[in-house]
Amino acid sequence: MDDCLFCKIIAGEIPSQKVYEDEKTFAFLDINPVNHGHTLVVPKKHSENIYDIEESDWIAVMKTTKMLAPKIKEAVEADGINIEMNNDTAAGQIVFHTHVHIVPRIDDDGFRHWPGTPYKDRGAEEIAEKIRKLL
Ligand code: AMP
Ligand code: ZN
Repeated sequence: MDDCLFCKIIAGEIPSQKVYEDEKTFAFLDINPVNHGHTLVVPKKHSENIYDIEESDWIAVMKTTKMLAPKIKEAVEADGINIEMNNDTAAGQIVFHTHVHIVPRIDDDGFRHWPGTPYKDRGAEEIAEKIRKLL
């Protein structure tokens, strides 16, 4: 993709702090980290997000994420790791080249989880049924 920031990073046209690369994936430090070591894992083949990425590319991204997470944790002496992905603007996606965030966490670093609200009445059953019907 000509006008994609992460495609340009993969091609070396825009500088990045690369931490890993293989045939299908590329991983580099997020320029604006939640904590030091915050890393983005991307497929080399352009896709926008979870909806259009080919299964083989997604599996490769997951494999790289699984391999890197404990190494990043060790490197920055983190207390935990969040694996996170934003899909669509409504979910906070800003860059439309598929990427998974590996976010090192430090005890009491102040980064908050999203709040949850329990289902009412038969809400959970109805939603689960709606999803199952689409499969
Ligand atoms: P998202 O909101 O999931 O689309 O996240 C996009 C991420 O890309 C943000 O965390 C940005 O800090 C990060 N980002 C944007 N530009 C760059 C860049 N040139 N190098 C590294 N990370 C970047
Ligand atoms: Zn791209």
